[in-house]
Amino acid sequence: MSAIDTLPPLREVIATHGLSARKSLGQNFLLDLNLTAKIARQAGNLTGCDVLEIGPGPGGLTRGLLAEGARHVLAIEKDPRCLPALAEISSAYDGKLTVMEGDALEINPLEHLTPPIRVAANLPYNVGTELLVRWLTPAEWPPFWQSLTLMFQREVAERIVAVPGSKAYGRLALLAQWRADARIVLHLPPEAFTPPPKVSSAVVHLTALPEPRFPADPAILNRVVAAGFNQRRKMLRASLKGVAPDMEDRLRAAGIKPTERAEQVSLEAFCALAREVAKK
Ligand code: SAM
Repeated sequence: MSAIDTLPPLREVIATHGLSARKSLGQNFLLDLNLTAKIARQAGNLTGCDVLEIGPGPGGLTRGLLAEGARHVLAIEKDPRCLPALAEISSAYDGKLTVMEGDALEINPLEHLTPPIRVAANLPYNVGTELLVRWLTPAEWPPFWQSLTLMFQREVAERIVAVPGSKAYGRLALLAQWRADARIVLHLPPEAFTPPPKVSSAVVHLTALPEPRFPADPAILNRVVAAGFNQRRKMLRASLKGVAPDMEDRLRAAGIKPTERAEQVSLEAFCALAREVAKK
């Protein structure tokens, strides 16, 4: 019998440990172990990898990650009520699961992880976006992680993978696609969760590129992208006016028409513009 078979069904875990879902913690649980296994498989080959999981809750995805052969799972959970349920998983898997209680926005788990590291999470959506931005903007690249497999509200997932000219295209797409390959690997209806949220969800898988896709200084790229999209309806010659002198010339030198709007400009062109802005 495998370890996963010795553990009770998740509905039973929830009943035994009194894990009624709390809205304040964004708790929408995945109780179907076939589904959590499917999500865990999207995280790539876990054999020989440490996995950082944020917000394991009753442990459905955690079980999937361990069953997929993760060398070690480090899970950070804010809700202390979940800890006894997670301890049962840890003993079924010979201590391959370590749980840290606390807020993932405040804990630095890196000293407990050994590369190669993959990240997987079904998180509250606001926490997920904040962590994604942090993971995409470390002081040094490549980052600590090889891949991120994260659940988002469908609309946020679409913003991460958006292409120029679409409504969803903006800062998040540029940030994600500059240093990672990002794709939506699974769509989930509200009914997949207990209790069901109001919106549909999607799992995004991001693989870190060894180097950014095009050269650019991160701070300058961030500045031009932010200025362009803060006034996305305006032509770039107006929205970027304050960024550098001779902006129209710099736009042209980067191959961008000054009359274009940010949402039409590709990542490659934004990086070219950041390089032009960096020139004296
Ligand atoms: N991963 C579980 C699943 O798929 O069933 C639970 C998902 S539920 C959407 C989000 C989980 O994240 C909850 O267990 C919640 O307590 C936890 N959580 C919320 N905010 C957190 C934070 N800032 N740090 C760590 N965990 C958090």
